[in-house]
Amino acid sequence: MAMNGTITIDKTLCKACELCISVCPEGAIQLSDEINPKGYHPAEFIKERCKGCSLCALMCPEVAIEVFRER
Ligand code: SF4
Ligand code: SF4
Repeated sequence: MAMNGTITIDKTLCKACELCISVCPEGAIQLSDEINPKGYHPAEFIKERCKGCSLCALMCPEVAIEVFRER
């Protein structure tokens, strides 16, 4: 699959459940060093582009991830 997407993660919503990390086929998400207002280390996107498969967004119980597909 082509690398044709990117995501944004709302770090204030994230509860660091790591579900997005477990499903990402690109290893494109990790927990960050910072601490969000809820007291969690929020997930962060660590690549410039990804597959845009949306698995991470579908899994996120906090609906913190938005996926942008490119042509
Ligand atoms: S859209 Fe797919 S490839 Fe991109 S970060 Fe989410 S799970 Fe990973
Ligand atoms: S699935 Fe959502 S709440 Fe869980 S770590 Fe990823 S962004 Fe945070």
